[in-house]
Amino acid sequence: MEAVLTRVCVLSRTHIPNLQELPCGHFMHSTCFLTYTRYNYTCPLCCKSVGDMSVYFQMLDSLLAAERLPPEYSGRMQQVW
Ligand SMILES: [Zn+2]
Ligand SMILES: [Zn+2]
Repeated sequence: MEAVLTRVCVLSRTHIPNLQELPCGHFMHSTCFLTYTRYNYTCPLCCKSVGDMSVYFQMLDSLLAAERLPPEYSGRMQQVW
């Protein structure tokens, strides 16, 4: 039904690899999401809430992990499985 929207940031309308999925199923760059959610808490397309804080902190984690991956962090990930 909304296949056209797959993997396109709802803000910048561009395809970029590391898109984050919003709770409503739309996609947004993690950087766009961080900027956008400073002032807005609903999806710009469908107006559903994107204020799920667990999702928000997951994005922060993935952002930090992407920027810098300290040895102890990767070690912890190995222990998970
Ligand atoms: Zn974007
Ligand atoms: Zn949406």
